[in-house]
Formats: sequence, C-alpha cells, structure tokens
Amino acid sequence: MTSLLGRPKRVLVTGGAGFIGSHLTRRLLERGDDVVVVDNFYSGSRDNILELRDEPRFELMRHDVTFPLYIEVDEIYHLACPASPVFYQRDPVQTTKTCVHGSINMLGLAKRTNAKILLASTSEVYGDPAVHPQEESYWGNVNTIGIRSCYDEGKRAAETLFFDYWRQHQLRIKVARIFNTYGPRMAPDDGRVVSNFIVQALQGQPLTIFGDGQQTRSFCYVDDLVEGLIRLMDSPDEVTGPINLGNPGEFTMLELAEKVLALVGGDSKLEYRPLPQDDPVRRRPDITRAQTTLGWGPTVPLDEGLARTVDHFRAKLAGV
Ligand code: NAD
Ligand code: UDP
Ligand code: UDP
Repeated sequence: MTSLLGRPKRVLVTGGAGFIGSHLTRRLLERGDDVVVVDNFYSGSRDNILELRDEPRFELMRHDVTFPLYIEVDEIYHLACPASPVFYQRDPVQTTKTCVHGSINMLGLAKRTNAKILLASTSEVYGDPAVHPQEESYWGNVNTIGIRSCYDEGKRAAETLFFDYWRQHQLRIKVARIFNTYGPRMAPDDGRVVSNFIVQALQGQPLTIFGDGQQTRSFCYVDDLVEGLIRLMDSPDEVTGPINLGNPGEFTMLELAEKVLALVGGDSKLEYRPLPQDDPVRRRPDITRAQTTLGWGPTVPLDEGLARTVDHFRAKLAGV
C-alpha cells in the first residue's frame, strides 16, 4: 500500500519467519508494501519464507530483537517471540528477554522513526482465567513463578511497555491479544496441540491428550487472524487496543482429537499424559470489541481450517 510519502510503505515484521509472521508477510507483499523480516530463527524457519527471496519488495535480516536495530520503517508488526510452550520453556530466560528487551528495542525504533507499532500479545495475559469468556477489561489470573510465566509475564510486561511509550512518548501503538491460532506452516515439531494431533494422526501414532482432555481452547484459522492484525494496524490512531483476536468457537481437547481423527482417518488411539503445570482450564475470547471497532470476525470454521491444515501437513510429510 502506498504511504502518504507517495512510495510503498516500509513495514517491519519481527518474527516474520514464524508461523503467523510468514502469512502476514505474504499478505503485506500482496498489497504492495515493502516488507523487512527480522528473525533469529529461534522457533521459525527460513523455509517459511524461502519462496519470497526473489521478490524485490522483500528483505530478510537475521537478527535477534534483544539487540538494538537501526533501520528506517513506517510500521512495525512486532511478532518475534516463540509461541509454543515447548519452545518458550526451552530457554525461558531468553523468552523473557525477547518479550522485554525485544519490545524496548522495537519501541525505541518506533520512537526514533515515528513508526506505528503493533504488539502480538496473547490470551495468556489472562492466565488461567477466572472470568469466562475473556473480555479485554479482565486483568487475568497469572502465576508469576511458574513454567509458563516467562511467556505470560513477558507479554504482560510488553503490554505495559507499549502503553507507557504511548502515554510518555505519544507513540502510535496497537496491542492485539491473539488467541490460539492454527493453520498451514506451523512447524511439525512445534508442540502445539493442533500440529501435534495432525502429525500424530498422519503418522499413525497415538494422539497425546494432556490431562483428561476436558480443558477447552478456541481455535482461529491463520488467515482470519492476519486479516484482524492488518485491520488493527490500519485503524485510526485512537484505537490502541488491547483487542482480542480469536475465534469464539470453544472445544475440549477430546473434541479436537475426534475432529482430527475423523478428517485424517486411520486407527490412532488416544494416549493420556500428565497435564502440564498451570495449563489453563478453559479459554474463549469475547470479540465484541474487534467486531465493533474493526468490523472484524472469523470466517473460517474449525472443520474447514483443520481440513486445510491436514492437507498442508500431508504434503509436507510426503516431502511435496
Ligand atoms: P512462531 O514461533 O512460529 O514465530 C515466532 C517467530 O519469532 C519465529 O520465527 C522465531 O524464530 C522468532 N523469534 C523468536 N525470538 C526472537 C528474537 N529474540 N529475535 C528475533 N526473532 C525471534 O510463533 P507464532 O505462532 O507465529 O507467533 C507469532 C507471535 O504471535 C508471537 O509473538 C506469539 O506470542 C503471538 N501469539 C501467537 C499465538 C498462536 O496461537 N500462534 C497465540 C497468541 C500469541
Ligand atoms: N533502539 C533501537 N533502534 C532505534 C532506536 C532505539 O534498537 O532506532 C533501542 C535502543 O537500544 C534503546 C531502546 O531502543 O536503548 C529504547 O529506546 P529509547 O529511545 O526509548 O530509550 P533510550 O535508551 O535510547 O533512552
Ligand atoms: N495439549 C494436548 N496434547 C498435546 C499438546 C497440547 O492435550 O499434544 C493440550 C495442552 O495441555 C493445552 C491445549 O492442548 O491444554 C492447548 O495447548 P497448546 O500448547 O496448543 O496451546 P496453549 O496451552 O498455549 O493454549
């Protein structure tokens, strides 16, 4: 998209080699933006963006956002951060550094360049929620010292930083609270439930159910999520968020396993494993604010999105 300067907008996507970032990058290129992806490949992969390398408006920088970055940009989508519990718990100190130092650096960059900046925050800021469904006004129920805290508290601190740069330095900020998102280009070893179940079913392995499988999540297809992120970035300056982006359809993990098995076929059994510490019991977004402020809502039902994701993994595992 052309900026007021009469040239394409220069958009920075941190974490652009990851699952959501790689979808977002394609959408921004399609609409004519210049896109710089910054990623240290901690949980993302060069493969996710390999086919973009000859695109003249695309640039890839290997860089860790915990270190300062001096480039010239008009907009920043700040997504850099591992999202899967398996990845963010592998090096929890680095996860907190990424959330806190990474956000400070990107906010400093936004301040110097007068860029608009969007934070990919998370429903994890609600912790194990005592309020259901979760509205943005809910302050959350988060353990400060558990194994999920590096991520949950890291993102909460990132939100605090965004709002302090907004109050103190009048930055143009946008804070999206993203609920569980799934789709093609999740890493097969990512560890999140959708990719785990699909890969397990395709390989004829048992589906690993943590706990009794009665905990719930709400799953948003990645194309819907990306549309929400772009609408939020394009919204008037007074719209700062936080704003929930997710699909309010709520399912137990057993229901999800049944859906995956119905789609993939085969004879995988269920294998019960201990529930990880602090695993939220239930989660569903109230998306009234996104609907009224952005005119946004999800359009892809879970069955359809899962079918597309199964097709992706089937091709990937077959080496296509
Ligand atoms: P992902 O792990 O696939 O992508 C994250 C990307 O950030 C990866 O490419 C990784 O290499 C990169 N990264 C990590 N640390 C970095 C660092 N220090 N410097 C530079 N790059 C770094 O995860 P995703 O699902 O695409 O999530 C993207 C963002 O959305 C994350 O901020 C995540 O917290 C947020 N989010 C995702 C979900 C979801 O369900 N996918 C839900 C809520 C929030
Ligand atoms: N920063 C950056 N790129 C820039 C400007 C700043 O990475 O273009 C980093 C730098 O490390 C700085 C941090 O962002 O310490 C916060 O910047 P800010 O201007 O808020 O504070 P400073 O520490 O410079 O006073
Ligand atoms: N889960 C599961 N089996 C798996 C992976 C995850 O039952 O192989 C459960 C996990 O305990 C959680 C839910 O699925 O209750 C969603 O997990 P995920 O890691 O995808 O996301 P998050 O917990 O961060 O919402």
